[in-house]
Amino acid sequence: MTAVSQARKAVDEPTLSFEFFPPKDEIAESNLWNSFEKLLEVFPDYVSVTYGAGGSNRERSLSVVDRMAKQVLTVGHLTCVGASRASTTEIIRRFESAGVGAILALRGDSPKDDPDALAKGELKTALDLVQLVGVETSLEVGVAAFPEVHPESPNMEHDSKVLKLKESAGATFAVTQLFFTVEAYTNLLASARAAGVTMPIVPGVMPISNAKQILRMAELSGAAIPDELIAQFESAESEDEAREMGMAYATQLTIDLVAAGAPGIHIFTLNSHVAALELARAAGLCR
Ligand SMILES: Cc1cc2nc3c(=O)[nH]c(=O)nc-3n(C[C@H](O)[C@H](O)[C@H](O)COP(=O)(O)OP(=O)(O)OC[C@H]3O[C@@H](n4cnc5c(N)ncnc54)[C@H](O)[C@@H]3O)c2cc1C
Repeated sequence: MTAVSQARKAVDEPTLSFEFFPPKDEIAESNLWNSFEKLLEVFPDYVSVTYGAGGSNRERSLSVVDRMAKQVLTVGHLTCVGASRASTTEIIRRFESAGVGAILALRGDSPKDDPDALAKGELKTALDLVQLVGVETSLEVGVAAFPEVHPESPNMEHDSKVLKLKESAGATFAVTQLFFTVEAYTNLLASARAAGVTMPIVPGVMPISNAKQILRMAELSGAAIPDELIAQFESAESEDEAREMGMAYATQLTIDLVAAGAPGIHIFTLNSHVAALELARAAGLCR
């Protein structure tokens, strides 16, 4: 099986990947599979599926992974907050049986209804999970990276040291949190390389098709929205015009990231193919 970290290296082209989340009901499920099929038509190098912190959507995540992995290289996200070693090992085994290409090893955050989950769990950081996956399987392991610094971290140098520890423990690629400027990515890259990190760091990009939605996502993730983009949203005379401006912004960001040396682009689809495809095509990532 192709290694996620090696995808398209031989041809020196950026990878294209799409992120999905497990659907909550039947209508959402049908939308997900429709979008997944449409996105497969542009031959992504891999897809990934999120996993609820605390294991809230464990079965739904596993069943989506199971079906996707039969059709395309699939990365299963896995969080360890609040979890025991034994239960996490069981999930790792189930991912392995489903045929995933890699696990994205994440800590996750304590759920709102269980704020002490992190303190109660056996695995305290994503580094513990990277190590556990390495002990239990030969699966490839990816990790998260933060262009605007992890909210609990004192600074980017600290994050980069942690990233280096994860690489030394076996991680072979990283995918970033969403962000909106090429400088955020190049600063992260420079800091990580200075700390000795050599693995590919793939930027996660959100198609900007809905101004309100993007402002909410940015608030949740702590990503700063550039004044330029806010000014564009404010000057838009209609939702259609705001969408056009947002998509043009995301397209230029994607083109600039590839020009700055990004090894690939990971598109957060929100389970909808329309804007994800539009972005991938406009940025020249489709095959
Ligand atoms: C691409 C991507 C995908 C994601 N997918 C999901 C998902 O599917 N489900 C979900 O619930 N969440 C997901 N998240 C969110 C993620 O779980 C949170 O951002 C979480 O707060 C941090 O996860 P982490 O894996 O970076 O944790 P950690 O690496 O454990 O880091 C958490 C904090 O602890 C510090 N730290 C870690 N290890 C050490 C150490 N050894 N020494 C000192 N300090 C340390 C870090 O600097 C950081 O401040 C995703 C994030 C990204 C970027």
